[in-house]
Amino acid sequence: MKHNFGAGPCILPAKVLDQAADAVRNFNGLGLSILEISHRTPEFEAVMKETQDLVRELLRVPEGYSILFLQGGASTQFSMLAMNFLHQEKKAAYLDCGYFSQKAIKEALLFGQVNIVASSKDKGYNYIPLGYEIPEDSAYFHYTSNNTIEGTEMFSFPPTTVPVICDMSSDIFSRMVNVADFDLIYAGAQKNMGPAGMTLVVVKDTLLEHIQRQVPSMSDYRIYRDNGSLFNTPPVFSIYVAMLNLRWLKEKGGVKTIETENIAKAALLYEEIDRNPLFYGLADPDHRSRMNVTFKMYEPAMEQEFLDFASTRGIVGVKGYRSVGGFRASLYNALPISSVEILVSCMSDFEKEKL
Ligand code: PMP
Repeated sequence: MKHNFGAGPCILPAKVLDQAADAVRNFNGLGLSILEISHRTPEFEAVMKETQDLVRELLRVPEGYSILFLQGGASTQFSMLAMNFLHQEKKAAYLDCGYFSQKAIKEALLFGQVNIVASSKDKGYNYIPLGYEIPEDSAYFHYTSNNTIEGTEMFSFPPTTVPVICDMSSDIFSRMVNVADFDLIYAGAQKNMGPAGMTLVVVKDTLLEHIQRQVPSMSDYRIYRDNGSLFNTPPVFSIYVAMLNLRWLKEKGGVKTIETENIAKAALLYEEIDRNPLFYGLADPDHRSRMNVTFKMYEPAMEQEFLDFASTRGIVGVKGYRSVGGFRASLYNALPISSVEILVSCMSDFEKEKL
């Protein structure tokens, strides 16, 4: 048995994989694979609707927001959102809190001016900046709620009157957020939502009235909204598996229930990192992510040995991102607490061997 701590694409519930495999062979008893039906069939339209309804229900999306399914990953959103909302006469405010914020800033600069309101680059993005001003005349304020690579997460969101745009790729559906506090939320699906290939956008309809630039159809949020995300061929299979995965989440009790589990899983692992004299955590304790736990060994030469030791127990996907090194254990929704217990006992057994 494998314990998959990969950062994304990542673990999905076994039940979802079984159902997806069945649908590849025979979808809904049609005698056709989900991979070979048209996106214009009533059967797929029902999938689309159920997936949108599940997003709405699980995130408690209020009236006045549209749920869109796009392609191109969260990375395409970096430029698309700026193309749509960064006007010539205004600056966009960005919080520079990690690798993916930086990438978002780079793309926004192609379309206008960016005001970096605060940055944690000085300490390798190991904390979330606090206490900064967001100018009232900003076109929008952009931040990343969970920094997948550095292992930091925002637990309080700065109040502001400007439109708020948030990259929630790696913590969406892991905890309750108040959607009404945001004007646009985007997330690549391949962590807590489903397989890679689809990007979720939850957008406030009034924000779409602020598009001034002429944008190509495939980069225009209004086109997706007005065509129910069926302007062109959507990523049919990704949407289908996301639907199965969101059904699984709903059956489990929804986001609030999974949030409680996620808090317990993260606490267990951070406790061991803090206790075990071989390891130390990379993120500032106040901003430690519940989804991506980053840590290293005091003795870097031992790290490969620990990875090999862990792999004999079925632990996979814990190697840190190449620019950070060390380890990163991702604790997404589908990872059971029993896998975290295995990792923790592996760390303490390794300590016994070494000390
Ligand atoms: N933002 C965050 C927070 C991410 O974790 C990732 C990918 N891991 C991205 C953006 C980029 O997403 P994609 O690969 O879907 O373009």
